[in-house]
Amino acid sequence: MSNVEKQDIADLPDILNAFEQALELERELGTRAVDCDRALLLPVSRERLDGRDHREHLDGRDHRDLRDHRENRDGGDASATSPQLPTSRQDSGTSSAPSTKHQTPSTEELAACTKCTLATLGRQRVVPGQGNAASPDFMFIGEAPGADEDRQGLAFVGAAGQFLTKMIQAMGYSRDQVFIANVCKCRPPNNRTPSPQEMEACLPYLRRQIAVIRPKCIVLLGRTAMSGLFPGQRILRGMWYEYEGIPTIATFHPSYIIRFNPLTDAVSLRTAKLEVWNTLKLALAKLGKQPPKK
Ligand code: URA
Repeated sequence: MSNVEKQDIADLPDILNAFEQALELERELGTRAVDCDRALLLPVSRERLDGRDHREHLDGRDHRDLRDHRENRDGGDASATSPQLPTSRQDSGTSSAPSTKHQTPSTEELAACTKCTLATLGRQRVVPGQGNAASPDFMFIGEAPGADEDRQGLAFVGAAGQFLTKMIQAMGYSRDQVFIANVCKCRPPNNRTPSPQEMEACLPYLRRQIAVIRPKCIVLLGRTAMSGLFPGQRILRGMWYEYEGIPTIATFHPSYIIRFNPLTDAVSLRTAKLEVWNTLKLALAKLGKQPPKK
């Protein structure tokens, strides 16, 4: 037996353990059948043999180079300087009501905003956020619109949005029952991370949304959301914080999850998904709820 094969066997308990967790997650998410191929296992042990630890990807920092697509937002720890923000009491944020302290920002108000350069850098539509604006159980906050969101004027409708939808449904909710928003309401060019100045300019909108909508629990998706609501603070995923008296918890951005290649990053993918699911269960438990039984 070669050294490589011996190492593969030595890695087996870890790999099986990761798969057991992954299968448990799929079961909780309602998946009925899971394809399993030996090819999924080998890259993991090869990585280890190469001296690389796949877990280093999980801090959410290594995917930021994927600048050519918006699905590059993570959920690492946050300690940053940034801004804060929100929509109107109406569900879609498309009302033409004038903006006041007691209303969420309307599409019209946001479209007229020139507080930062994103207004002039090629955005097609502003994206206030949408969903249940009447004290929903959960408000999910991401980073900024991507290409699909920019085209449609709706938050999280692209690939990352599809994963967010699955997360919400696994919790027993529909997208309409929660509120979904972003720190920045305009798409940054080439899906880059919003600058501190852009976040700073946009955060008052999000803060207003939160103040008016009053969600019972806030789920922050990725580092931009974490640093947006808690500038300068080190925010850890899966830990409880309070934003204006509202229990707030952070997890990976859906883009971080969907960037994993299921063929070559299977264990990392499962581990990250499991962490997200555990955080969502914590969020449900905070409101005295449990995920629906499948
Ligand atoms: N990523 C985000 O952070 N927000 C969106 O609306 C879409 C992708």
